[in-house]
Amino acid sequence: MLSVQFPARGIVDQRVLAAMAAVPRERFVPAESRNLAYADRAVPIGAGQTISQPLMVALMTQLLDPPPGCRVLEIGTGSGYQAAVLAAMGCDVLGIERLPELAEAARERMQALTFGNRVEIRIGDGGLGWPADAPWSRIIVAAAAPAVPDALVAQLADGGRLVIPVGGRREQALLLVERRGAELITTNHGPCVFVPLRGAAGWA
Ligand code: SAH
Repeated sequence: MLSVQFPARGIVDQRVLAAMAAVPRERFVPAESRNLAYADRAVPIGAGQTISQPLMVALMTQLLDPPPGCRVLEIGTGSGYQAAVLAAMGCDVLGIERLPELAEAARERMQALTFGNRVEIRIGDGGLGWPADAPWSRIIVAAAAPAVPDALVAQLADGGRLVIPVGGRREQALLLVERRGAELITTNHGPCVFVPLRGAAGWA
């Protein structure tokens, strides 16, 4: 998957490939779905949520392009897999998850993994960002928003990058929003399908 499929599909960042090789994805899927851990698809993780498709995690991480030691705000932590990949790249991650049972399970997984001490998981509405620790130079959102949330743009540092799926309930576009001073540069990186963002900036 990492040496053949990913490069053929545009994942060329060696740091992303190395991080994904270092994180045991089978630890982030339910026991009964272990056989699907490395399948080219999203996998249910309970509470109607999914762990994102491996290629999508790779693409989002490559777009986010976090320097080592970077603080990352991650919204929609779910299983914790995306957060673990970022931690394996040397990032310090604050993950926001709205469902307490998923947040607790993700915390337990992190404790069992060596890079888990780089990930903190809080329960809340990530559509509001995390203003107390803003500005953020990197923000990654793993749930589909109807529009780029104002709060996230407001908390994005100068030179910062925000990766987020935006669109309708059934299909979205993967957007990268870069801040250069007061200017925002938004680029579209193709179609994607995510579970909905709930809460203030999401769907009811
Ligand atoms: N990155 C995750 C993907 C999880 S799916 C992984 O690698 O497993 C998206 C997650 O976003 C779900 O767990 C869902 O509960 C969560 N979510 C939806 N709306 C949210 C919100 N407003 N704030 C925080 N989390 C949210």
